[in-house]
Amino acid sequence: MTYTTDILIIGAGIIGLTLAYTLKQKQPDVRIIILEKESDVAKHGSGRNSGVIHAGFYYTPDSLKAKLTAEGNRLMKAFCRKHDIPMRECGKVVIAQNEAEQAGIHELHRRGNANQVTTQIIDEQQLAEIEPNAKTSGIALFSPDTASVNPVAVSQMLKKILSEQGVHFLFAEAYRKRGSKNSIITSKNNRIQAKKIVNSGGLYADKIAQDFGFSQHYTILPFKGIYLKYAFDDHPLRTHVYPVPNLNNPFLGVHFTLTVEGHLKIGPTAIPAFWRENYHQMQGFDLKECASILALEARLFCNNAFHFRALAREEMRKYNKNYLTSEALKMVKTMKAAGFQNWSTPGIRAQLLDKRDFKLVQDFVVEGDEESVHILNAVSPAFTGSFAFAMWCVEHHFNLDTLAQ
Ligand SMILES: Cc1cc2nc3c(=O)[nH]c(=O)nc-3n(C[C@H](O)[C@H](O)[C@H](O)COP(=O)(O)OP(=O)(O)OC[C@H]3O[C@@H](n4cnc5c(N)ncnc54)[C@H](O)[C@@H]3O)c2cc1C
Repeated sequence: MTYTTDILIIGAGIIGLTLAYTLKQKQPDVRIIILEKESDVAKHGSGRNSGVIHAGFYYTPDSLKAKLTAEGNRLMKAFCRKHDIPMRECGKVVIAQNEAEQAGIHELHRRGNANQVTTQIIDEQQLAEIEPNAKTSGIALFSPDTASVNPVAVSQMLKKILSEQGVHFLFAEAYRKRGSKNSIITSKNNRIQAKKIVNSGGLYADKIAQDFGFSQHYTILPFKGIYLKYAFDDHPLRTHVYPVPNLNNPFLGVHFTLTVEGHLKIGPTAIPAFWRENYHQMQGFDLKECASILALEARLFCNNAFHFRALAREEMRKYNKNYLTSEALKMVKTMKAAGFQNWSTPGIRAQLLDKRDFKLVQDFVVEGDEESVHILNAVSPAFTGSFAFAMWCVEHHFNLDTLAQ
């Protein structure tokens, strides 16, 4: 069977969904097909993340992340309010675990100011008023605009709106290969012909892009984020509590997240994964993929790029519940370690590695031409930034006048 459409979007994560939403807002007549290999939306990163609506103060001011996160925070909250999706607008504190980390607090505050994001440096007394259970060395950073939401609820609402607008979802059908004349062939041997093909394939975005001649210098290196969920109902925290991160890599460090439902989680980790969908035991196992990722990780281990050895050793230890719990408990005054006995749903970061210098790419990356556009490195906080990111992509990578003719 052959489908013909104006725009084909591969991947029904938050990026594919918000892109379709934005395109429909700008050009209601545009015909869109969304092709998704799973049976529903948000089965990978977009439904397995922390659900934190970040404020946007972590990122260097010249980055796309800086441009799009603060605006994305506003747009995500506006979408949730409009569609009655509950949020927890609890704010967050970043604490210093020793005097040396105070420099990190000042740097985050500087970045917040440069990115026009509200942050406040607070002393121990002010911290006690905002989050009585957090402890810090001298100063901490308060971000009032950080919030949380259920990311699956947001994705399901987008699916509902898009379906009502006539967007055609093809579920349980995967992109298999590129066809001729700007078409693709699916796992069910259907051909989809489109004026523009959008690749928002998350963990497989690099592979799909390579079929179109893009992502030549990049490969995805998957990092697994696991969480421990607190079992008791004594609500030991009011806000999210984060450590000062190592700003040389894109991860924020193990932190406490308050979910919108009121649960408390420790995580996520950034453990090197052995294949792209390496969630539980042998789920998603692919021998060829595993061999190539292990070979890459072995190479990173040998040349110790971005201090991979220390990162891998430290992150692997976090499979131990007691170790992970004790690391997190350093940030608070009292909490029952016994409450953290159960793992909750893990997620895998589709982190891009630049093969030229063996560095983890920090910023969002988008490549493309007239016929296709490839969303590479939609790593955290791309969930937060998704509505703003979609607007940016439409502005820079689409010519709407020619699409719906
Ligand atoms: C552990 C973790 C915690 C995070 N926490 C946060 C947070 O608190 N706040 C925040 O803002 N961001 C967070 N993020 C980042 C956020 O989840 C991602 O930035 C976002 O989900 C990326 O969305 P996406 O649509 O690009 O990817 P995905 O959600 O992975 O979607 C890609 C889709 O493409 C589909 N696909 C892949 N290959 C094919 C194919 N061949 N054919 C058809 N379909 C295909 C997949 O099935 C999938 O549905 C976190 C990420 C992780 C992993």
